[in-house]
Amino acid sequence: MQTHDALMFITQRPEVTFMRGEGSWLYDANGEAYLDFVQGWAVNSLGHASAVMQEALARQAAKVINVSPAYYNEPMERLAARLAELSGLDRVFFTNSGAEANEGAIKLARKWGKIRRNRAHEIVVFEDAFHGRTLATMSASGKRGWDKLFEPKVPGFVRVPRNNLEAVRSAIGPRTCAVMLEPIQGESGVLLFTDEFLQDLHKLTREFGVLLILDEIQTGVGRTGTMFAFESAGCPPDIMTLGKGLGGGVPLAALLARKEISVFEAGDQGGTFNGNPLMTAVGDAVVAEVSKPEFLAGVREAGDYLAQQLRALSVELGLGEVRGRGLLVALELGEPIGKQVVELALEHRLLINSPRPACLRFMPALNVTRQEIDSMVAKLRAVVHAGR
Ligand SMILES: *Cc1c(COP(=O)(O)O)cnc(C)c1O
Repeated sequence: MQTHDALMFITQRPEVTFMRGEGSWLYDANGEAYLDFVQGWAVNSLGHASAVMQEALARQAAKVINVSPAYYNEPMERLAARLAELSGLDRVFFTNSGAEANEGAIKLARKWGKIRRNRAHEIVVFEDAFHGRTLATMSASGKRGWDKLFEPKVPGFVRVPRNNLEAVRSAIGPRTCAVMLEPIQGESGVLLFTDEFLQDLHKLTREFGVLLILDEIQTGVGRTGTMFAFESAGCPPDIMTLGKGLGGGVPLAALLARKEISVFEAGDQGGTFNGNPLMTAVGDAVVAEVSKPEFLAGVREAGDYLAQQLRALSVELGLGEVRGRGLLVALELGEPIGKQVVELALEHRLLINSPRPACLRFMPALNVTRQEIDSMVAKLRAVVHAGR
């Protein structure tokens, strides 16, 4: 048995050490199989041990792993071109984490505001938002219980309620450079902005001449059934961030912007590992796979099936609402038993997440099968029964 003593405490983890994975399954030190509907927190787009990723990793590792961000490398150029083509945004900067991409988005918006909008620097953000765990992104977040953490906060964020256009309108002033939001708030429990609100918000930002920043770190790269959530919502951003599913499991994130807004000058932005060829080669293989029309159709089909099965289970067991889009789905439990359900699910060899006390979130691999969804629902039924 290994000891965890040398690891700094950051969260309570269950007493299980995972050794390997395959598709939607993880295996512990005893070879026990766990059905994984967390997938590295909506990260492993192609599931565990994907052949596509293994091949890209091995091929690139044999060529070159790191050349420094001071030089161009081929996978970085290839993935940037692919993302620009898919998103309609012209310029891409790669980072190692979502929080770092959002820091970059905040910096870019402030720089743009300084030179193009008379030093405007404030960013309108939303209640319940999650943008990461650096000081600025924690300050931009509206996560409950975070308002007093690690003070003093980074100033310059004005918070408004979700789906309230008038609140956004009154929050925008001469000092505002941008409005920043997740099209679906994943970490706070898959809380949706309506398409109507997102379209009106897009119009409002045009009207006031401020930037629209979409944090698609969780919703992007196929998760909601289109390549990016903004496509189905109809609100093209000026700046967008990607992370999580972009690398399919390797640390890779990105900041994208229209070319008119890409105003960084030499020295403004950078980082040792940014755009390194090993990670971008894997990201390129993942994005090439996920962006295939038949792959995205599969995500929509699996997402519909998952939501349908969860609705049936909810009716059967007297639980609450099912909501989400594609393979980012939440189930309301009706009472604050999420933590117990997650613990009991682990005993039933099922990995799920409870982002709120009375809510479960499902974020399986994007290539999850109907049989795996059926197995998950059967396990969940047993877990809820056992907990009663
Ligand atoms: C996970 C997440 C982040 C932070 O990404 P990290 O890679 O953990 O830094 C930011 N925004 C959203 C919407 C996320 O889901």
